[in-house]
Amino acid sequence: MAKYLFVTGGVVSALGKGIAAASLGNLLKARGLNVVLQKFDPYLNVDPGTMSPYQHGEVFVLDDGAECDLDLGHYERFTDTKLNQYNNLTCGRVYETILAKERKGEYLGRTVQVIPHVTDEIKRRITLCANNDPTIDVVITEIGGTVGDIESQPFLEAIRQFRLEQSYHDTASVHLTLVPYIKAAGEIKTKPTQHSVRELRGIGIQPDFLMCRTEQPIGEEARRKIALFCNLPQGHVFDGTDAKSIYEVPMNLHRQNFDELLCQRLMLETEAPDMDSWERMVNSILNPPDTVRIAIVGKYVELKDAYKSIIESFIHAGIPNHVGVDQVWVDSEDLENSEVGDQRLKEIFEDCHGILIPGGFGDRGIEGKIRAIRFARLNKIPFFGICLGLQCAMIEIGRDLVGLEKANSSEFDQANVHPVIHLMEDQKGVINKGGTMRLGSWPCHLKPGSRAYNSYGELEIKERHRHRYEVNNAYRQQFEEAGVVFSGTSPDGELVEIMELPSHPFFVAVQFHPELKSRPREAHPLFKSLVEAAVDHQNMCREEAAKKAVENEEIASEGESNSPVSRSEA
Ligand code: GLN
Repeated sequence: MAKYLFVTGGVVSALGKGIAAASLGNLLKARGLNVVLQKFDPYLNVDPGTMSPYQHGEVFVLDDGAECDLDLGHYERFTDTKLNQYNNLTCGRVYETILAKERKGEYLGRTVQVIPHVTDEIKRRITLCANNDPTIDVVITEIGGTVGDIESQPFLEAIRQFRLEQSYHDTASVHLTLVPYIKAAGEIKTKPTQHSVRELRGIGIQPDFLMCRTEQPIGEEARRKIALFCNLPQGHVFDGTDAKSIYEVPMNLHRQNFDELLCQRLMLETEAPDMDSWERMVNSILNPPDTVRIAIVGKYVELKDAYKSIIESFIHAGIPNHVGVDQVWVDSEDLENSEVGDQRLKEIFEDCHGILIPGGFGDRGIEGKIRAIRFARLNKIPFFGICLGLQCAMIEIGRDLVGLEKANSSEFDQANVHPVIHLMEDQKGVINKGGTMRLGSWPCHLKPGSRAYNSYGELEIKERHRHRYEVNNAYRQQFEEAGVVFSGTSPDGELVEIMELPSHPFFVAVQFHPELKSRPREAHPLFKSLVEAAVDHQNMCREEAAKKAVENEEIASEGESNSPVSRSEA
């Protein structure tokens, strides 16, 4: 039978519960256990697919097409697994299931209530993954939000019941809290943690482990106090001091023996984890011998969570290239202003060795993205377009190289005369917005000899998607005549998945989301190639600058030797 670990949080949100859960998963996996992670979100949306990135950050997409919380991205990256739709549950989904049953008359005349019906459905979902896969040793369930939220209550109540129904060693609870450092007093404060645990214990859940998120290490005195007030052994209070890289967290917890104590608590007999390759990876991230700068031109740039997987993919891609990737965030709307001339673009992208246009929806900031693409194309700066980024690249090339002055996407202008991007056939007539895009993993055939093929090194790949619009095949030939290579298509050749410009050092755009499959120990091939191209571009710029410096020196010294002073001195 699987063991169940629950991860909750208190005091404030954004403590990094997802990273903590993923790190524990990482350690248990490194100990040879088969671990699955799942996230239960208390909000009423059925999934985050229809939420704005400003509300929720990135929507992570799984192979099976499920649109999920971004923490599932951390889970996949930290445990090198592929998750599915059953690994993310929202309160909306719980009610959707219950109401469908109620309409079918399955409650046989009973009143449908939060307890027991909602809690029963939550309990069913706690065990569902392990019931479907008997090889799973540990299920880690993270509860979104914080203890004390009205919305979280049915989830916590379900966990309370579930723990009571299992034997003591089959479940454990980890609670994350904030231990703030009060600058004026020069000390850390444990009171918020005490309150948060009191709240949790009030619901009937005694945490077995506490992870204290702090800026400063908590120290023995605070640890003793927290343990005493929160009713748990001192050795079960862990220091969660801010780390430089999220990938350090598993090692920080391992150093404090967390995984060993957790295994003891759950009576899991395992070997010590082998953290060598993880540690090497973290060292490469923390100490890169050099850096490159890559600009990301998007419309949600104030909220970095909207581009979480892209940020991580760059960190991963830096490793094999022996560089750190500095990300320069450019708001695409800022590029739209008519006063932004070429000179200004030069200033904005100065010192950038690559430009990336991420995915997105709606027409805000589109013309800015198109200008950035043109700048990259004409100045031979490595360019990578993702989803909407590909669609913008088609518009830019359509307008400038193919001669379709009015080229556009029908997403932004339904009546335009040259819809080089248009709605996919099977999207026509789709009314509901939730879960109806072209989603999840689809196969793609690569053209031998293309840049994409050289990156992947295989002819058939699979990538994850989330879009409604596609390249309009009616224009494909014109684009090919203008020098575009459609290097990746659906197996039947009907759907463009990748386009590139062979005449450019690196100009590649994809209809899918490669960032969703990048892993810290296995960077995504296209991100890796983009960073490699950025490194080459940087080297070229450095050589040119060095050459110029020598030339300037020569001119200066020539000037000196020709000057009357030096002549008279001679
Ligand atoms: N809005 C575009 C479409 O639906 C691009 C989507 C995306 O970038 N994820 O096709």
